[in-house]
Amino acid sequence: MAICITFDTDHMSESNLTRWLDSQPIHGECTFFCGQVYDVLQTTRHEIAPHPFFATNLGQTEILKSYRDLFPDAVSWRSHSLVFSQSICVELQRLGYRNVSISERYADLDAQPIKLPWGPTDFGIYYMDNSDFCNFNEAKDENWKRFDRGMLVQLFETRRAQGEEYVYVFDFHPIHLALNTPSYDAYVSERYSYEANGQVSRMAAKRRGARTYFDELLELMRAHGVSSRSISDVSRTRRA
Ligand SMILES: [Zn+2]
Repeated sequence: MAICITFDTDHMSESNLTRWLDSQPIHGECTFFCGQVYDVLQTTRHEIAPHPFFATNLGQTEILKSYRDLFPDAVSWRSHSLVFSQSICVELQRLGYRNVSISERYADLDAQPIKLPWGPTDFGIYYMDNSDFCNFNEAKDENWKRFDRGMLVQLFETRRAQGEEYVYVFDFHPIHLALNTPSYDAYVSERYSYEANGQVSRMAAKRRGARTYFDELLELMRAHGVSSRSISDVSRTRRA
């Protein structure tokens, strides 16, 4: 009940996202954080929410407003690179957002949404594919432990994933799932041919990468009868 699969659609064209969705059965309802409007998502059951990119010449208020205009009905919000501040939070509340997903709760078994003082509730991220399956530039602290299947299994064996108390938000990038990204270097060398013409390396299916964890999560969810829920759905039930 308490697994939220979310996607950040960075670098996905309309055609690549369409092809990827066709190839990827997803059980339940997910939340798609998007930097643009995708026609293919409009007819799905999934929640659609903005994924603003802040590194532009525009000011914060203009950026937030432009994404509100693109997604007038969205109630959830996650920025690219999890950019966030108190003043962003105040504006988000004014713009009518109820949920944000902007903090890392990596492998935190006690992950629960946290109501922020300025209104929205933060759905912290239990696992994010591009930061948690590898150690970019060896920049993580010495206690960092690479994500592995055991960390997924324990969610189900302890029955935490099946209960109501905890909410485990998974953040996947369709581009990493399509490429089955195993490392940052592989991503850099393979992303352009995928972005330009949807081409994926022949190695992708054979190696252990971002999609391996995604597949393992889906398999465990199926085995334990757990479907993904969107962030807005979980937030509605928790408020009720
Ligand atoms: Zn992003």
